[in-house]
Formats: sequence, structure tokens, C-alpha cells
Amino acid sequence: MDRHELRVERIVKALKEREGDAPLTLKKKTVSHVVPKPGDKKYTDDQLDISDFDEILAIDPVNRLCVAEPGVTFEKLVHETLKYQLVPAEVSELKTITIGGAVAGCSIESMSYRFGGFHDTCLEYQVVTAKGEVLVCTPDNEHRLIFQMMHGTFGTLGIITRLTFRLIPAKPFVRVTYHKFRNLEDYKAAILSHYEKEDLDFMDGIIHSPGEYVLSAGEFVDAAPYTHKYDWARIYYLSTAKRKEDYLKTADYFFRYNKGVTNVHPKSLPLRVLFGRFTNSNVTLKLARVFRKVLPSRLIPVTVDTFIPLSRMTEFMDWYVEEVGHFPLWCVPYRIVHRYEWLSDEFLSQVKDDLFLDIALYGMRRADPGHYYEIIEKKLTRIGAIKTLISTNLYTEDEFWAIWNKPNFERVKRITDPDNIFRGLYDKTCLAARGLEKKAPAGR
Ligand SMILES: Cc1cc2nc3c(=O)[nH]c(=O)nc-3n(C[C@H](O)[C@H](O)[C@H](O)COP(=O)(O)OP(=O)(O)OC[C@H]3O[C@@H](n4cnc5c(N)ncnc54)[C@H](O)[C@@H]3O)c2cc1C
Repeated sequence: MDRHELRVERIVKALKEREGDAPLTLKKKTVSHVVPKPGDKKYTDDQLDISDFDEILAIDPVNRLCVAEPGVTFEKLVHETLKYQLVPAEVSELKTITIGGAVAGCSIESMSYRFGGFHDTCLEYQVVTAKGEVLVCTPDNEHRLIFQMMHGTFGTLGIITRLTFRLIPAKPFVRVTYHKFRNLEDYKAAILSHYEKEDLDFMDGIIHSPGEYVLSAGEFVDAAPYTHKYDWARIYYLSTAKRKEDYLKTADYFFRYNKGVTNVHPKSLPLRVLFGRFTNSNVTLKLARVFRKVLPSRLIPVTVDTFIPLSRMTEFMDWYVEEVGHFPLWCVPYRIVHRYEWLSDEFLSQVKDDLFLDIALYGMRRADPGHYYEIIEKKLTRIGAIKTLISTNLYTEDEFWAIWNKPNFERVKRITDPDNIFRGLYDKTCLAARGLEKKAPAGR
């Protein structure tokens, strides 16, 4: 038996020997990149330790494939695959996001305009069910619905223990050109044009204010006249407003937002020189976890990751400027590569766009965060947009299942977790995450 099989055997045994149906959560080595919620029941649930699932099992440079365990971080993956002049076709931009978390949670980045999310680049998952059965799931085999439904279900449908995914050719450097726009219509037109032509390796941007839009167009290059890193005094998102172009080593490009996307502290140069080396999103999330019991929720910044159909973006922004007004925003164009099984028929019936913009709001401090989560959720629902479930989620159960696909979720749940030890998707992300418990076995 190889090391991976031994690890699988260990958790299979633990699941088979477990008694009762109390909720079970996963313990990982790295910090969890979901918005800290002090009352989250995951802190008090029983835990299954999967922290040793962090090995890259194979890199196949000929077929451009990688096989790895779910706890492998994108930093490690990029480091290892670059040795073959390859990188994953989607690289989440914080160093310690794991590939398992990217599938079970969400993932977006500047190649998403071509490839969608990390799950869209996956070809196979090994999944361990709540009863300790080991399934191999692909888009074409008898477990194809399980394969499609693993995305965004936050561990409620089973444990991903191995992933096979695509790699793409890479070069040593990335040149980024910053295109500046004064209005949203020109910005949208530029994004759409690159989307249709697929003429860039990378595309994302920062909306610094309602009159200042930056489109960051990236290309792999073999050589660079200079390179910058954004791991100390410099702040990447601010540089997009000041610079016309930039060169970064490929790994530094992928993790350019590692200090916190648009929520970077401290900001002043002297303080960055003193402390900038030591602060990053990983440290912030770790501190929030450690001090969660004494952290007032109003001190946890509002963080929302939205997916807006390009055709509804103007309407959204007009509303957002009036009702929320927090800038900067991170903008990541995202291709809907197929009609996802985890979205409800009702939701999909109104989706006309195949290009969405992921508009991410980080670091907004307000006295009443709940109000902002609520009005953003309601506005998104009205315009056929969604948010990822990493935030505080206030949906009612009916509102929730109008977006996510309850029949498909239940179909898979019956196979992979019939006793509901991983909780239902609504229960976990909308109730338990807020410290609430549902009595009836619904939400599945
Ligand atoms: C401040 C912040 C910044 C972010 N920035 C980015 C960004 O730049 N780019 C980007 O793509 N995304 C970003 N995200 C979103 C992030 O990618 C997702 O939240 C992702 O799910 C986190 O991955 P993780 O490895 O931390 O997973 P975790 O948070 O550990 O896990 C996410 C969920 O998946 C479940 N899970 C984890 N592993 C498994 C497994 N093996 N099997 C089954 N279920 C599992 C967990 O139980 C949990 O419910 C950001 C999120 C935050 C809060």
C-alpha cells in the first residue's frame, strides 16, 4: 500500500467505527479561507483529521496532468509544477488555499475568464463517503453527478481525498499591462472583447472608485526587464492604479494578492517597511480564529464574493454605489463553462450570460454588517446573480434552494451521507456557521 492508500484506509476505518450521527467536520493543517464567524459550530463539532492529506502524488508533464491530495496548497503546487514549465489551469491567489478547499468551497482567479473555477479543470475525484465507502468520480462514470456536485458543497457531500486536474504550459515571467477606464461601459466592453478573443493569459482588475476602473491584462513572457514582488512594502492592488505595466516572476504573479487582495494593512510606507513582511491574509485569518471568542462581530470586515452576469453589471453597480459604496472592488471575469448541476433549474432558466464578473468586496467595516449582507443578498437574487457561501449567509431556506439545486443535492446526499453527519448545505452554511441549529433533518 502506498502512503495515500494508508491515509485513506485510516479515515475509512475511523468513519466505519464511528458511532452515532453527531455532526462531523474536517480538520486541516492550513487555515480556512472562509469569512470568520465566531459562533460557527465547526469549532465545537467532532473533527475528522485529514491534515496528512497534503502530498502531490504525480505530475505527468506529457499529458499535462497532476494528481494530488486535497490539502496541497496552491503555493506548493505552483512551486512543483513550474519545475516542468507547467502550472495548474487555475491558481487561487492566496498561497495557503488548498485544492480540496478550492473545489469544496470556491475558487476564482485571473485565468477564470477562460477556464472557470478550479473544479472546472478537474478530471477525477476520489471521494470517501460518510460510511467509509471509497468512490472514484469522473464527469462520465456512474458517479458523474457526485463529481459535479462536489463543487461548492463545503464538505457536506463527502470527503475529497484525491484530485486529478489539468496543467497548462507556463513561462518564467508575467507581464501585466494596466488599462484604465473612467466608466463602466468602456470597462465592460474591454472585458468582453478579451473574453471573446481569448487573447490574454490572465485577466482581472480593480475597481478603485466609480470613476476609476483598471483592467489588468497579463501575458506569460520568457524574459523581463525588471521584476517586482508584492510581499513587503509594496501593495499590489494600489500599484494597479499607479503603474502602466509591471513584470513579475510567475509565482509572484500568482500570489500578488497574498497580503489580502484589497484588504491590506498597514498601508503607510513606514509601517509597511516595519510590519509588511509579517502580515498577510493567512496570519489575519489565524488571529481571527484564535481570538474568535472575544472578537466582536462588528470588527470582522464585511467580505462578499459575488457572481454577476455581465448584462446586469450596470444595474448592480448603480445600486451598489448608492446603497453600499465601499471601494475598491476586485473584479474577476469568469466563464460559466457549463450549466452547473449545483444551480437550480429555476436559477439556470434566467441565466442568459456565459460571462459573469466575480466582484469581491473585502475589508468593509460598518457598525451593522448584517444589514449589508442582507441587502446585497437580496439585490443579487433580484438580478439573477449569486454570492459564494464563504460569507455570512442570511438566506431563508426557500430563498437558498431557489438558487442551489436541492433535488441534485439530495440525490447525492442519499448515496454519500444518508445519516447527514456532514450536515445539509443550507444548515452548514446558513445556520451552523452562525451558531444556529436546525431541529428537523431538513436542509438536505
Ligand atoms: C479573505 C478571503 C480571501 C479570498 N481570496 C481568494 C482568492 O484570492 N482567490 C480564490 O480563488 N479564492 C479566494 N477566497 C475564497 C477561497 O478560495 C475559498 O473560501 C476556498 O474554499 C478556501 O479554501 P481553503 O483551502 O481555505 O478551504 P477551507 O476553508 O479549509 O474549506 C472550505 C470548505 O470546504 C470543505 N473542505 C475542505 N477540504 C475538503 C475536502 N478535502 N473534502 C471535502 N470538503 C472539504 C471545508 O470543510 C469547508 O467547509 C478568499 C476567501 C477569503 C475569506
